[in-house]
Amino acid sequence: MKKCTKRKKDILEHVLKDNHNRGITLIALVITVIVLLILAAVTIATLTGENGILTNAERARDETKYARVKEAKDLWQTEKEISNQTEAEERESREDVINQLYQEGTITEEERDALLAGEAITIANKTISFESTLVEMFKLAQETACSGGDSCTDPTNHLHIGDYINYTPADSSAKTGALGQEETGYADATQSYTVNSETKWRVLGLNATGNQILLISEYPIQKDGEDPYLILAGPESYINCKSTLDKICGIYANTNVATKARSITIEDINNALGVEVDEENGTMHKVGNTTALPGFYGYFGKFDEVNRYTYKTGNYSPEKYMNDKYVTNYTVKTTVEGNYYYYPYNIAGTSSENPTLYNLLFEGTEENSNWARSYWLASPGVYANSSNATFGPGNVDGGNVNSYNDLFYSHGNWYAYGYAVRPVVSLRSDVSLSEVGGKGTAGTDIWQGKENTSPDIDSGNFNSENETAGKIQ
Ligand SMILES: [Zn+2]
Repeated sequence: MKKCTKRKKDILEHVLKDNHNRGITLIALVITVIVLLILAAVTIATLTGENGILTNAERARDETKYARVKEAKDLWQTEKEISNQTEAEERESREDVINQLYQEGTITEEERDALLAGEAITIANKTISFESTLVEMFKLAQETACSGGDSCTDPTNHLHIGDYINYTPADSSAKTGALGQEETGYADATQSYTVNSETKWRVLGLNATGNQILLISEYPIQKDGEDPYLILAGPESYINCKSTLDKICGIYANTNVATKARSITIEDINNALGVEVDEENGTMHKVGNTTALPGFYGYFGKFDEVNRYTYKTGNYSPEKYMNDKYVTNYTVKTTVEGNYYYYPYNIAGTSSENPTLYNLLFEGTEENSNWARSYWLASPGVYANSSNATFGPGNVDGGNVNSYNDLFYSHGNWYAYGYAVRPVVSLRSDVSLSEVGGKGTAGTDIWQGKENTSPDIDSGNFNSENETAGKIQ
């Protein structure tokens, strides 16, 4: 122990003596300080700067944050798609998912508010948003009674009747091919349709069940060639108008964003105008209001004896005609019930109360524009009384919406008429604005200079033509 203390003392004395002799030079000190400064600079550079430890840590934190928000969004969307397919009702709402991200500390209050408002936020240089569906946007505009246009209170989050949507069909060169006589009843001309990629699409409104947005072509579509109108004739026009018109409109399908592209029907127009038919009383009224609207005429033979017709020998039945001519399996009736109605399209004050809808559905179908855009409805109807029954598809023409046209008579008369075709697209219920292509703008009126003053193309009588198909013996 003692020895050890002695040794330490010797060493200390030696060092002091040594220092005294040689000392630490100023230069050495300066060099030491410089070395220390260099070391410090290197350390700071490693911590900060573009590739510094601190920056990298920040980036990693943002990447993790983005990954977490993206994961929540993907899960929410997958759940949404599954519940759409299975019609399951239990799933987290968009609001729940966003609020959860805030509560767990992933996003800030400002980011939460932005996401709830349908805006995109930027994390790690990437933008992400929880977009509302088009149905949600439409309902939001309805809740605030916003009809759109320049006075819209929230253009980013609203969708209104008449808004343009950049919908595009999946196949920009799709065709119907030539339509056969069984499809149109008219064999004297080749009739076919090809997708016109210039076609613009507008919001018609919600479907009847309120879970899908319906788009309608800005204008009716035109047939290939010189004559733009589709000619339908005879018994085929009554039996096959729906499948034929749907087939033509089906070339505008895009299953990525829509469940169906089909022809407009009279029910689409009723739904858009907010009116419904009371067949039992033969009246029309606004939805949720029992007051009968003036101008409606309806004939429903299942409720009365007057609007029915019983076939006689030598008459023609559309079902028997199809069976005889095309080898099909339609039930031939002995008595036909009338099932037909029409109404002036201003029945619910449409032109003043909803000018956009009026413009969408009826402009160009009146005399002042030579009925240029008058169009077929995929809605076959029957007019019947004690002396005959007449059959045919509906149309919009001359100020009226008709669920029937007299293209075929039970006594053998047939007619061929030409009208335009109007597609309607049912968008998938979960589709958002960016998925469908965003909002668009108006196109050019392809019906300029067209006229449909005489839609009747041809006529005849099966009896005088000695046509035996469809004759009741
Ligand atoms: Zn609005």
